[in-house]
Amino acid sequence: MEDIENYTYVIVGGGIAGVTCAEHLYILHPEAKTVVITATSLIKAVTNVLPLTKTLDAFDVEERPAEELENNCPNVTVVRDTVVRLHAEKQHVYTSAGRVFSYEKLCICSGASPKLVENSPHVVCIRDTESAQQFQSRIKDAKRILIVGNGGIATEMVYEVTGIQIIWAIKDKYTTANFVDAGAAEFLRPELDKEKTESITPVKRRKYIVDKIEGGRTVPGGALGPDWHTGLELKGCHQRKVFIETEVELKTILEPAAVKQYGKTVTKLNSEEEDWPVYVELTNGTVYGCDFIVSAIGVTPNVSVFLPGNKLTVGDDGGLLVDDKMRTLEKDVFAAGDVCTPNWQLAPHWFQMRLWTQARQMGSYAAKCMWSSLAQEEVYMDFCFELFSHATKFFGNKVILLGLFNGQGLDRKYEVLLRYTKGLEYIKCVMVDGRMQGAVLIGETDMEETFENLILNQMDLSEYGEDLLNPDVDIEDYFD
Ligand code: FAD
Repeated sequence: MEDIENYTYVIVGGGIAGVTCAEHLYILHPEAKTVVITATSLIKAVTNVLPLTKTLDAFDVEERPAEELENNCPNVTVVRDTVVRLHAEKQHVYTSAGRVFSYEKLCICSGASPKLVENSPHVVCIRDTESAQQFQSRIKDAKRILIVGNGGIATEMVYEVTGIQIIWAIKDKYTTANFVDAGAAEFLRPELDKEKTESITPVKRRKYIVDKIEGGRTVPGGALGPDWHTGLELKGCHQRKVFIETEVELKTILEPAAVKQYGKTVTKLNSEEEDWPVYVELTNGTVYGCDFIVSAIGVTPNVSVFLPGNKLTVGDDGGLLVDDKMRTLEKDVFAAGDVCTPNWQLAPHWFQMRLWTQARQMGSYAAKCMWSSLAQEEVYMDFCFELFSHATKFFGNKVILLGLFNGQGLDRKYEVLLRYTKGLEYIKCVMVDGRMQGAVLIGETDMEETFENLILNQMDLSEYGEDLLNPDVDIEDYFD
């Protein structure tokens, strides 16, 4: 006979999505019993929320001991355990410690794991506190690394790592292509070769360090976020220099003996090129030696333990498909954050990117949906899903992305308005028929609120033409 622990709400995952979901369930339904089952001892908390616009908040993310969530939300219990199976028909989840939890409503917030270019001891990826620490210890004695990938993590890493040669291999024509266009990449380019200076600003974030690396763990910790590098010494033992290889992918990883055996010609980046622990052949035929390879090519949602025996469906990107109420196909099973893929009719200016902001928004909205389905209350789609918005920093510059900021889905049928002051600001508006569809704002532009309004209300701006970005015209006065 199974010993079953009964809860109204069961949440799997102590990342941003899971924690936000638990916090909001506490507000909505404080008398209901909620459990968060999470594989690691630390959970993620959102702090210092600063609203920037109607759809965009800036915030910090801190790792906190689980007890803090329990103290703040007395109806919430945090269980440190790994879910190994879901039996949706019985409404049970099973853990590796042999515990069985029954739920009325379940929210899967198990996040995503980095894809590896190849499973090799020469390849590292950054995902959680543990992998970041391993990276730090390997980089201390390194002279050269090769980074594969062109997203936010690769970009941050190229900027943060210092005292080392970096070969940055990207499959696109220009750097950071998921986030910015070629012009913005050019604006950021001069920062690449700078040796990073020591930061003198105090770090506000409270950091918890995992003092012991848990052996044999197969379930990842929560994904790190914007300032994953803070407090880590990411310094090699050489001089910083960045080499970019565009429109390439990693073809094969070669041990030194294989390079000799196959007579490969190794590209030299300096006159006294040495022997390297590992070599990489790129799809353009170039072979480079390096100390190790960093894989930053995206993530795969952590769905495998939930699928067997259940009628959950996954999208092309491997995420659990959810409808506009964050429901999966299984009754009373919801999903939020990196693990899920929206399968509703998306608003014209919103799309999914696996980011902090969206994990938080989905966690909060999932809580509303779970509670309302129990209370039989009507709930409407949250306003934040009307407009894609994201605030981040690239190479030390404030970056705000709004709507279809890279012309996503517009099939190149759009015009671009640009204001560009080297080293100061880069403002790009994506326009269709005189209406703004998206924007990239780099630097302290202060335009985010105005542009958010213009994208949301689809005002015809044809009569302003290029004056829209004329620095002598104070457009906030017109449109705010
Ligand atoms: P996660 O934070 O991954 O949390 C998943 C949780 O589920 C974890 O607690 C994990 O332990 C638990 N779990 C998984 N499987 C199980 C199981 N079977 N049983 C129990 N528990 C389980 N986003 C940004 O917006 N800006 C950035 O600058 C940025 N930088 C990043 C830098 C790095 C290095 C990384 C890795 C990610 C970055 N991201 C960034 C992405 C961001 O971190 C994620 O989008 C976000 O953390 C997703 O939150 P989540 O709650 O869905 O998943």
